[in-house]
Amino acid sequence: MKTILLTGGAGYIGSHTALALIAAGFEPVVLDNFANSHPVVLDRLARIAGRPLVLEQGDVLDTDWLQDVLRRHRPAGVVHFAGDKAVGESVAQPLKYFHNNISGAVSLLRAMEAAHAEDPTTAPTLVFSSSATVYGDPASVPITEDFPRSHTNPYGHTKLVIEDMLYALNAARPAWRMGVLRYFNPVGAHPSGLIGEDPAGIPNNLMPFVAQVAVGQREHLNVFGDDYPTPDGTGVRDYIHVQDLAAGHVAAIRALLDRGESFTVNLGTGRGHSVLEVVRAFEKASGRPVPYRIAPRRPGDVAQCWADPGLAQRLLGWQAKHTLEEMCTDAWRWQSGNPAGYRS
Ligand code: NAD
Ligand code: UDP
Repeated sequence: MKTILLTGGAGYIGSHTALALIAAGFEPVVLDNFANSHPVVLDRLARIAGRPLVLEQGDVLDTDWLQDVLRRHRPAGVVHFAGDKAVGESVAQPLKYFHNNISGAVSLLRAMEAAHAEDPTTAPTLVFSSSATVYGDPASVPITEDFPRSHTNPYGHTKLVIEDMLYALNAARPAWRMGVLRYFNPVGAHPSGLIGEDPAGIPNNLMPFVAQVAVGQREHLNVFGDDYPTPDGTGVRDYIHVQDLAAGHVAAIRALLDRGESFTVNLGTGRGHSVLEVVRAFEKASGRPVPYRIAPRRPGDVAQCWADPGLAQRLLGWQAKHTLEEMCTDAWRWQSGNPAGYRS
């Protein structure tokens, strides 16, 4: 059974990917420092998987320790989820983001390079969590991978820099196999309702905020702008079920291991939904009202953003399957069963 190391594997996307890897016959090793996740995730994962998962608790900034982890587990591939991801916080604390995200990636790549020098029989294989944020304010939709990249905040800047680091390293070391995955808007939860998104404090993202309004933890949603050039005036995004995203990682690992060619692909559905469509879908899925007020636009927001997912389909044989209704139903099962997240 091939081992796959998941940095940030206890987080929202990492935990769902760990289960998808197990279902596909891989052995995930979860590496996390629990900076933005809760150790109870491992208990939940064990309940769903029917057996405990392997955990390495520590920091990706610790290159020597990472090298030791790689030496002990000899993973066939690494998925690098670990990092900080709150846009607003990145504006207030840019150094935190440049350090944890960029230095974290450098630390991992150095450890992988050292592990490869010790055992040159296998090619280093890496999947990186990038984001649609690298497209900045796209000139048109749908977005293909060759669109120009830009950044509007330090978080997005770190994704761009890490992508460039990976491309430069791959140019110098063609034997490395790298899959850069640009996620659109991951939402939803595992159908068991045992794992899901558990943001600390006030959620920045739409779906967890809507879920907290529906469960009665927050009074109303602020809809950031209703005067965008979109069908109902509210922002349009490509929401993708986290289960589809997890399946995309399995497809990416398989493609890298089977064909050995690096790639950069969008992981999205190819469909856009407005804020008000999400509100209505969530009300239907939960049977609860989601009161909202129209508020000013959020600085830095783009009007609409959705993927052309054709390249991922051609290269990986992967396609998102879940509807917005399923995303809301699964998010609600998680939220209503765990109103205070993993602290419930
Ligand atoms: P998350 O915060 O739930 O997961 C990240 C995990 O990394 C957390 O468990 C955290 O404890 C861990 N971590 C952070 N710094 C670490 C360090 N130095 N050492 C070890 N562990 C560390 O976030 P997520 O939503 O699962 O996102 C995973 C990745 O996907 C991130 O890189 C994020 O930027 C990217 N991404 C997320 C979204 C989204 O909307 N969720 C969209 C696009 C890209
Ligand atoms: N949004 C909103 N109220 C909120 C959070 C988000 O109206 O409390 C809107 C936001 O303006 C955008 C959409 O919902 O149009 C998705 O926002 P999110 O932060 O989830 O994703 P991103 O903007 O990063 O794509």
